[in-house]
Amino acid sequence: MIGIFGGTFDPVHYGHIKTAFSVKQALNLSQLRFIPNRMPPHRAKPWLSVEQRLQLLHTALLDYPDVIIDERELDRDGPSYMVDTLASLKQEFPQEALCLVIGMDAFFGITTWFRWRSLFDLCHLVVIDRPGFDSASIKQQFDAADYTFLHQRMSSDVDTLTTQENGRILLQSVPQLDISSTMIRDNLSHEELITQWMPEPVYKKLRGFINDDR
Ligand code: ATP
Repeated sequence: MIGIFGGTFDPVHYGHIKTAFSVKQALNLSQLRFIPNRMPPHRAKPWLSVEQRLQLLHTALLDYPDVIIDERELDRDGPSYMVDTLASLKQEFPQEALCLVIGMDAFFGITTWFRWRSLFDLCHLVVIDRPGFDSASIKQQFDAADYTFLHQRMSSDVDTLTTQENGRILLQSVPQLDISSTMIRDNLSHEELITQWMPEPVYKKLRGFINDDR
C-alpha cells in the first residue's frame, strides 16, 4: 500500500513528519508520497512560494527512507483537487492500494472537497488524530446522509485495508502533536518555540528565506 500525504506545508513541521511516519510504520506502507499543493481549494494563497515550500520539504525529509516528494499538483494548472491527484496516481500504480492520510480537522471538512464521494473509488482514507479535533464528535460533524455514507466505510483494523483495494476509512492513532503551520507563521520571532516544532535544518532554511525577503 502506498501512503499519500497531501498538504500545503506552509511550512512543513513535526505534526506532518512524525505523524505521517507513524502511519507508515503502523500500516507497513511500502512508500509515502508527500504531495504539496499548488493552489489549495479551501484556503488563501500560501505564505511561502512553491519553491520555498518544496525546499523545506526536501530538507525535512532528507533522512527518511521510502519517501517521495511528488510534484504532480505543482505541475497542474488550476486548483489542486485531491480526486484528480488520486486518479493520476491510480493510473501510475494500478496494482497498489492507495491510502490517503489526512488529519481529523481535514476529515471534518471532507464533504466540502470536490467530488468527495469519488475519493472512495480511488483510495482508502486514513484519518489521524489532531489535538483539538475529537473523534468522539465525528457524528456531529456531518449531516445524516453523509454520516451514513462515511460510517459504513469505517474499519477497525488495518487488515481490512490490505484485503480491499479502496473504499475503507481507518481512524489511526498517532502521537498527538499540537503544532500547525499557522502557529509557526504567527510565532516567527520566537525561535525557542519554532525549533521545537520543526527540525533545526528546516528552521535555518526558513530563517534564511525570511531574512532574504527583508
Ligand atoms: P495551516 O496551519 O496553515 O492550516 P497545517 O499545519 O494544518 O496548516 P497543512 O499543510 O494544511 O498543515 O496540513 C496537511 C495535512 O496534515 C492535513 O491533512 C492536516 O490535517 C495534517 N496535519 C497538519 N498538522 C497536523 C498535526 N499536528 N497532527 C496531525 N495532522 C496534522
